[in-house]
Amino acid sequence: MRLTRYFLPVLKENPAEAQIASHRLMLRAGMIRQQAAGIYSWLPLGYRVLRRIEQIVHEEQQRAGHIPLLMPTLQPADLWRESGRYDDYGKEMLRIRDRQDRDLLYGPTNEEMITDIFRAHVGSYKDLPLTLYHIQWKFRDEMRPRFGVMRGREFLMKDGYNFDIDRDAALHAYNRHMVSYLRTYERMGLTAIPMRAASGPIGGDDTHEFLVLAATGESEVFYDDRVTALKLGARAIDYDDRDQVAAVCREFTTLYARTDETHDPAVFETVPEAHRKVGRGIEVGQIFYFSTKYSEPMGAFVTNAAGERVPVHMGSHGIGVSRLVGAIIEASHDDRGIVWPEGVTPFPVGIVNLKQGDGAADAACAGLYAALTARGLEPLYDDRDERAGAKFATMDLIGLPWRITVGPRGLAAGKVELTCRRTGDGEEMSPEAAVDRLAGIYAGH
Ligand code: ATP
Ligand code: MG
Repeated sequence: MRLTRYFLPVLKENPAEAQIASHRLMLRAGMIRQQAAGIYSWLPLGYRVLRRIEQIVHEEQQRAGHIPLLMPTLQPADLWRESGRYDDYGKEMLRIRDRQDRDLLYGPTNEEMITDIFRAHVGSYKDLPLTLYHIQWKFRDEMRPRFGVMRGREFLMKDGYNFDIDRDAALHAYNRHMVSYLRTYERMGLTAIPMRAASGPIGGDDTHEFLVLAATGESEVFYDDRVTALKLGARAIDYDDRDQVAAVCREFTTLYARTDETHDPAVFETVPEAHRKVGRGIEVGQIFYFSTKYSEPMGAFVTNAAGERVPVHMGSHGIGVSRLVGAIIEASHDDRGIVWPEGVTPFPVGIVNLKQGDGAADAACAGLYAALTARGLEPLYDDRDERAGAKFATMDLIGLPWRITVGPRGLAAGKVELTCRRTGDGEEMSPEAAVDRLAGIYAGH
């Protein structure tokens, strides 16, 4: 993409309404525009990141054997009357009436609807296990929408639902989700710690939240800091192997890590003092096992191997896709701007032409552009007629992990400079070497 043909409305001034870094930087980098309290348009740069995050979520869910579908944003109130949640949900639910006077609502979550789909089409244990998920916009009329997309009213969520014949099978689905979430967050460059949580309105006793440590997080967290060093890495996971998946879950949930809701000071005291940490975290996901809470009242029964009709065991599992954009920035920025992890960056690399209009510089940039694009690394090429300082400031603000700087002086020696946004370190090399280096860096992403 050439910057002169793109739509990147960066702001020079710090927007007054933004209280935290990610909100400020998303506005300044031209990623979002607020349309109403807690409701945002995703401008092209922000939209690219959102799509990257969605793509990682899709890949990791499907790797775990979970099946994508798409349910609507609007739901009939009658489904929620069946589960008893229509009245319970309160003012967070946006209720709508259509021209036929039918009650609808803008979905805050989809347990009822997925249970309806299941009961209409599945009747036998032979069709289990089954996990269905979608990535869809949700609406919750939050009392205090704030921090930009971190606590929106309209927000994008991945929500998945497992259907299993019994408790053991459902707990395996729970564990599968935990492991797939760990991998999902790691690919985004995040450390998200599973913490035992209280279940709230969704119900059930097994639930973990995934928290990204950040000073601006809304949850207070208590943890053994050795938990932050745990990594899934590139190890192979067989998602059908119950023992292996359970072992990974144990590895990540044995050290103390809890939110204020489940914190137990007496147990916390047993953590060696040097490792005992209190901090704040951003919730980027949550998994639940809730047994037959929805299947019983809504009649989602299957025939088991003995020929009996039994309610199916379910769980639900959510990832805050749009919140993640803010959470990643909270975890990865400096005083000059965003620092995107390679896994989610809107463009893998920026090209800065120090002397637009100079024949050699323009030709070298065009050559780099073509070579990078051919390797699947679409660059953002700053081809504006601007001072070098202004171009660097824009690149630093929008946070592409790598920058190639092209100028007549370097070119005279056959060199361009490849600079790392995170460290600020630059290295001179031939344009071909820069392309090869980047292809190597992105091969794993
Ligand atoms: P919170 O405690 O932050 O209000 P929640 O526990 O009510 O969230 P869940 O029902 O667990 O939310 O939804 C799954 C995920 O969706 C959350 O982990 C979070 O990442 C995201 N999410 C929830 N509410 C919002 C919101 N208002 N804006 C953006 N993302 C949200
Ligand atoms: Mg939650």
